[in-house]
Amino acid sequence: MKKITIAIDGFSSTGKSTLAKALAKSLGYIYIDTGAMYRAVTLFAMRKGLISSKSFDEERLIELLDTFDVHFEYNVSKGYADIYLNDENVEELIRTLEVSRFVSQIAAVSAVRKKLVEQQQILGKAKGVVMDGRDIGTVVFPDAELKIFMTATPEIRAERRFKELQEKNSTVVYEEVFRNVVERDQIDTSRKDSPLVKAEDAVEIDNSNLSREEQFDLILQLVKERI
Ligand code: C5P
Repeated sequence: MKKITIAIDGFSSTGKSTLAKALAKSLGYIYIDTGAMYRAVTLFAMRKGLISSKSFDEERLIELLDTFDVHFEYNVSKGYADIYLNDENVEELIRTLEVSRFVSQIAAVSAVRKKLVEQQQILGKAKGVVMDGRDIGTVVFPDAELKIFMTATPEIRAERRFKELQEKNSTVVYEEVFRNVVERDQIDTSRKDSPLVKAEDAVEIDNSNLSREEQFDLILQLVKERI
């Protein structure tokens, strides 16, 4: 069967990765979580002391970009790939609210985007890929056969993210999660390089009132039409 490229973009915590994973599994495609790549670079910058709530040494981060590697390795037990920073599996470490706090600032740096976008284009070259992020349909794969743009109200998105974080850390506060979701959207939509915008030919899905199953069925139908 013909393989296509599926680009899923949208606001934070709209369930992009859940949908992308389910689609990849059902189609036998590979799934690439590009947010994880920006998060891994953020973890690197935090560990080097380059970013905090008070300062961000963007110049030094750019100087150090060639000194580390971000890549995926397939995890057989999970059925999808984990993200690595050099030789370390950082899949869990990048999912904290702390990393979420700084990631949009890191992702606004053009040199960081250039490094990661080049890698993403190589990973998806053979098609048969579901990639989620903020600029997949506009920058990484502007020719993707299917582009989805996902939205939901900030309250619903923060609630979903809060529940996820709460499972791992009971001290997490809803208001903080809400603030982070809104702040990231603001930075992601207003940055100069590759801002988060809906591609003209993307199908917009507001999933505020859709169940996961309803959404999956709707999009699988679109995939079949494109194939
Ligand atoms: O998808 P996730 O919420 O994990 O992404 C974390 C952050 O990484 C986003 O808020 C955004 O700042 C950045 N990002 C991006 N471009 C992508 C994917 C993620 O700028 N393609």
